[in-house]
Amino acid sequence: MKIIVINCGSSSIKYQLFDMTKNEVIAKGLVDKIGLHGSYIKHERNDGDKVRLEGEIVDHQIGIEYMLGILISKKRGSIKSFDEIDAVGHRVVHGGEKFHNSALIDDNVLAGIKECVDLAPLHNPPNLKGIYAMQSLLPNVPQVATFDTAFHQTMPDYSYMYAIPYSLYTKYGIRRYGFHGSSHRFVSHRAAKMLNTYLKKLKLITCHLGNGASITAINNGGSMDTSMGLTPVEGLIMGTRTGDLDLGVLTYIMTKEEIGVQAANTLINKHSGMLGITGISSDMREIEEAAFEDNNERASLGLQRYHYRIKKYIGAYMAAMGGADAIVFTGGIGENSPDSREEICKGLEFAGIEFDEEKNNITRGKEAIISKDSSRVKLMVIPTNEELVIAEDTNKII
Ligand code: AMP
Repeated sequence: MKIIVINCGSSSIKYQLFDMTKNEVIAKGLVDKIGLHGSYIKHERNDGDKVRLEGEIVDHQIGIEYMLGILISKKRGSIKSFDEIDAVGHRVVHGGEKFHNSALIDDNVLAGIKECVDLAPLHNPPNLKGIYAMQSLLPNVPQVATFDTAFHQTMPDYSYMYAIPYSLYTKYGIRRYGFHGSSHRFVSHRAAKMLNTYLKKLKLITCHLGNGASITAINNGGSMDTSMGLTPVEGLIMGTRTGDLDLGVLTYIMTKEEIGVQAANTLINKHSGMLGITGISSDMREIEEAAFEDNNERASLGLQRYHYRIKKYIGAYMAAMGGADAIVFTGGIGENSPDSREEICKGLEFAGIEFDEEKNNITRGKEAIISKDSSRVKLMVIPTNEELVIAEDTNKII
């Protein structure tokens, strides 16, 4: 059973070819700068063979043709013919209120994804392009959509409603949806396995800390609350996104700087967050280097602000769930930055969170428990794998 997992962005396609019978990735790669100058494909086989090819990749369809061409090529390929591909799994960012689970793509599902374009104008259109391209190139292969929002559809209404006129919810579907659903789902299942219990029995707080970041309260096996909202700009401080912000700040800036909606959108999504506070970078490694090695004050302030907000959310979610059994760290920062994990967990002993400095310091990019044995709340590091979630859902559905 071989499954291709596709993640289409506006100018890129990330892909992985899974062999589900052996439970391994046999090839993966990236098509980048689609429609731009210098487009290329980077492909890697699981025996270490790597290739980078430049070409005129003007749209997603051509990008996927390139990718499929390499997959069956004699020299670089991993399969002999397209008949070996049993299914395609697509990451789709927004599934609105319609999709609570992954779905086999048919006309009905396609219409549902299109209905959500207004809610994710930057993400759903390229996701659709990937689906159309695959449908035309592999017309007999079943395709499945896995939605970033689906996992959070278990949130109760008092957690997803915004305090705006109710008619705006019924008219436009304006509410909290949440994102990174596949990641929160993956690490929560792994956490239950590592703790040797059922997910349903656990109260978990999962922190996905990467360029984009979100934190989720998981109770009774499902998402109860999450920090991202209608869009992925709400919640934690991110690489370039504000996270939570007094809405008055935005209208004030728009008035003072005389900017319109588009510029305001760019400001909160691309020029804010850690990049905005520090003025150095959106990349945590560079910020930590500036703070620890150059004593850069704004880098230190940015880090303090970043950790403080996560700590506040942990407190809030513990209150919302009546405690927590474990807190899970994942994403590039959650998996690899012992300093961030330490700053977030420090001072939470009153809540039964006992952090183990030694275990934390030796943990990078691997599963581990980093709390003291006596800690009531377990602290865990679990590398995420969103592609595997898509491949497994696709496998189940077909
Ligand atoms: P992601 O979006 O999940 O790939 O995460 C990207 C973020 O993880 C960037 O801000 C990186 O700087 C950060 N990151 C990756 N490795 C490390 C590390 N060793 N220490 C601190 N931050 C890291």
